Amino acid sequence: MSDLDAFGTFFLPGPTEVRRPVLEAMLAPMLPHRGAAFEALFARLQQGLQPIFRTARPVYVSSSSATGLMEAAIRCAPPGPILSLVNGAFSERFAHIARACDRETHVLATPWGQIADLNAVESALASRAFAAVTVVHSETSTGALSALPPLVELAHRYGAALLVDSVTGLAGVPVETDAWDIDFVLTGSQKAMALPPGLAFGVASEQFIARATQGPSRGLYFDLVEFEQYIHKNQTPNTPALSLLYAAAAQTDFIAQETIEGRWHRHAAMASLTHAWVDRLTDETGRPFAVFAAPGQRSATVTAVALPDGLTGDAIVKAVAQRGFVIGGGYGQLKQRTFRIGHMGDHTVDGVARCLAACNDAIHHLLATTA
Ligand SMILES: *Cc1c(COP(=O)(O)O)cnc(C)c1O
Repeated sequence: MSDLDAFGTFFLPGPTEVRRPVLEAMLAPMLPHRGAAFEALFARLQQGLQPIFRTARPVYVSSSSATGLMEAAIRCAPPGPILSLVNGAFSERFAHIARACDRETHVLATPWGQIADLNAVESALASRAFAAVTVVHSETSTGALSALPPLVELAHRYGAALLVDSVTGLAGVPVETDAWDIDFVLTGSQKAMALPPGLAFGVASEQFIARATQGPSRGLYFDLVEFEQYIHKNQTPNTPALSLLYAAAAQTDFIAQETIEGRWHRHAAMASLTHAWVDRLTDETGRPFAVFAAPGQRSATVTAVALPDGLTGDAIVKAVAQRGFVIGGGYGQLKQRTFRIGHMGDHTVDGVARCLAACNDAIHHLLATTA
């Protein structure tokens, strides 16, 4: 084992494993980003990204982590108050970004692990005029998945734009950007896209961009109006993270081979296997382990497992690491009460089975030694 392998196989909810040919694509030499060679690379990347987003719109590529495009969503939202649907740590962060950008922000809080009740969303929207609604599609801290079509429908009925963080959704679970008429949706490179960290991707509707020109303080680096102007020349506004773009172009070729539908099916199968294992663990041990998110509201990319008394997320992460797999601890207020498995990206059902076997062994061992 080289020291580069020392961390074991990554089943973190980001970053996740990156396949070797994608890492090697980053060895390509530099080229000037104002010129034909770059424009050809960028055009190829666009062709790869559009089917992943299910859009005919251009896909913005930001040389930042996903948080950069969350900030862009807020900065470019039309003037007016923001309604933030909060049901976990990342949706809380979206609300925090809105406040940090000086937006009047109202939070509709839902208990962690659940998703916002549509009647409550409608009452909030009816109570006053909101410019935009923020939602995290797949709440990585809890594993809960929000259904987007009814949220788009409600937001639009009340004249608000829907801003979607689908960082652990896109490329793992269905997102129909155009068919669902989403105003803005974003993801990051290191989650279900299975790329190294450092890039974010986003799609805005034409109408959202038209209205963004009225955004009260769009700033500069995350001004989507600039992204839109440059992308029609197959360029980015500033110097892009070129090596990561090579990796992204290689990875979108792999995704095209699998097809996006194939990717969704594979993720659904990895999630089912994980959920079934949690049920079996409860039966075998007689202890109340549970998938934290409710059936029908579970993300196919990440599972948070609620723990019985006496076991902590930290202890499980450590014991699983000794068995060669890197999984995630609980996040935020769930830090000790849960652990998380990221079954996303390029992982296979067989690979997840091996990770679950290690988790199973680790948990039985911990129960036997702490009982
Ligand atoms: C990982 C994650 C983010 C933050 O992404 P960065 O790339 O660290 O900026 C935001 N939202 C969700 C749902 C995430 O899982």
